[in-house]
Amino acid sequence: MARIFTIMCPKCKKEFEVHFGDLRHRDVKLHCPYCDNWFLQAESEKIDDRW
Ligand SMILES: [Zn+2]
Repeated sequence: MARIFTIMCPKCKKEFEVHFGDLRHRDVKLHCPYCDNWFLQAESEKIDDRW
């Protein structure tokens, strides 16, 4: 089972799930499926990576 974390889009404030192993703590932009925004994890107000 893949580990995921949830992150809030800084633009539309909706949360969505991202694969942890692929993307967490990496300096890559994430894509919001709701508003089509691309943003860095550092820009998000809320990241929930509890396991
Ligand atoms: Zn968004």
